Amino acid sequence: MDSPVFLSVLFIYGVSASLQLLFITTIFFVFLQRNIQWWKHVFNFSLYAMMLMSASSAFTFIGGDQGPIETNNLMPYVVALTIYFGMNVSMIGVYFFLTIKKGLSDEIRGILMEGTSSYFITLVLSLVLSFLMEVQVYIGLLLFTTLGVLLSLAFRQYFNLYQKVSEKANRDQLTGLYNHGCFKELLEEKVQDAIDSHQPISMAIIDIDDFKKFNDTFGHLEGDKLLKNVGTLIQDSADQKDIVARYGGEEFVILMPNTSEDLAFKRLNTLRKKMNDTYYEGVEVFPYGCLSFSGGVFQYKEGTSADFLHKTDLAMYLAKRKGKNMISRLDEDSMYGDAIFCDEKLKLAKQQVDIFLTKDLMTYRHSNRVHDYANEFSKRIDLTKKEKQLLILGSLVHDIGKIEVPRELLTKAGKLSLDEWEMMKKHVTWGKDWVQSIKGFEDIIPLVELHHERFDGKGYPYGLKGYSIPKLARVLCILDSFDAMTTERPYQPTKTFQEAINELRRCSGTQFDPDLVEPFIEMIEECYMEEEVMV
Ligand code: GH3
Ligand code: MG
Ligand code: MG
Repeated sequence: MDSPVFLSVLFIYGVSASLQLLFITTIFFVFLQRNIQWWKHVFNFSLYAMMLMSASSAFTFIGGDQGPIETNNLMPYVVALTIYFGMNVSMIGVYFFLTIKKGLSDEIRGILMEGTSSYFITLVLSLVLSFLMEVQVYIGLLLFTTLGVLLSLAFRQYFNLYQKVSEKANRDQLTGLYNHGCFKELLEEKVQDAIDSHQPISMAIIDIDDFKKFNDTFGHLEGDKLLKNVGTLIQDSADQKDIVARYGGEEFVILMPNTSEDLAFKRLNTLRKKMNDTYYEGVEVFPYGCLSFSGGVFQYKEGTSADFLHKTDLAMYLAKRKGKNMISRLDEDSMYGDAIFCDEKLKLAKQQVDIFLTKDLMTYRHSNRVHDYANEFSKRIDLTKKEKQLLILGSLVHDIGKIEVPRELLTKAGKLSLDEWEMMKKHVTWGKDWVQSIKGFEDIIPLVELHHERFDGKGYPYGLKGYSIPKLARVLCILDSFDAMTTERPYQPTKTFQEAINELRRCSGTQFDPDLVEPFIEMIEECYMEEEVMV
């Protein structure tokens, strides 16, 4: 509403009167809107002053006469107004171009498309006001200002209503997060931004594990409450720039602009642990007595946003296949190439470990996680190619002897009795028997049999000491213990990664080979922890 006033003053009284009015209005707004930074007021003043001066020059250049409104001045009015808004659009376009770094022509096109009708209204209003002022300057101005204030109040009400309605349409009712439809729109926009700005963008899809069990036990209403809590937990752990949405039933998605896949992977692992360690009433019904999710992370590389979504989804399914409660990346299984992954032995080992799916899910998941650690750690320490392969294979089947341990013992919630403990310890010997019976697996016998030996000689089954324990068994002992410390155990809180690291350091030289502890910690810090959680 200020533009019609400036323009009509310009047409009737000339440019210096309109600049004076602009100055007074600016001072008024500086006092009224003290929360706005001062440079924004200066920017606005300069912008309007330039627009007015250019419009005035154009007006007189075309032959417009300052003074009462004249019909033969119509052309100069239109030209002055066009210049006024031409300046406005270009300056605002440049401002957004510099601050948001979007294409300048796109910006200008956007402003023009959205603002043309209001520019036209302004022209008509400025002429109406000029007529009013001609009849009665002050009454005209007063009437116009009252009309302007009332109209802007009405517009504000409509605008608030519009915002409320569109916010509702974009939100998931249960969790308050963005809904599927809105997410897809935002995804497209953010991917385009990432392409334009050459910044990385990653996505994570989260699917709650075994959620149906919770619903089946407590009913859908309780399930809804849990979903709401999960939504809050995810949103609270997200970065300000992230977009968190409920993607479907018990699936959530986090879009992370300016985030590499490595960082996204770490952040998801932190969230996974936080979820494991957060107690909700009723989580006892989940297989491990805690809430967990399977997550896939993927960094956009090329293609459409639908491809991006699909690849992240595939990564999530990989985590499900590997036993849930873990974060997967799409290309992790190909890290070692066909040489190892497609190796017949590894396939056979995987089939054997799959038996735990029906007997003891906990051992199944544990084996897969230790296998993941072995994949990464084998790249970081000095091992021959053959040793790397053995470590990766051995890590997967190291607990295979537990197939012989009674199910009640494996899933027992409380402490084991002395006899039960002795029976449990036998899994290393039973594992050795299994490995011995399969042709071609002989080389991993030391890993399976000796991964519970301790560096100080207090382990089992033989009480071997120091370097008499084979190196790969010493490595596996660390990977195995770290996972046991940090992942879910029935009815027991787990250690944070930092607490487990402290424990590894405390037991370095007694339980663990001191030369291997630090490189392992380095890997965990680099690949699985976020900067801020490192102390
Ligand atoms: P998985 O670990 O394989 O993901 O197992 P799951 O049980 O989580 O997955 P499944 O796809 O078998 O079941 C998903 C369940 O999520 C089934 C459905 O009842 C529940 N669910 C989906 N949307 C809602 C919802 O809005 N509220 C409630 N309470 N439950 C929902
Ligand atoms: Mg699902
Ligand atoms: Mg699920």
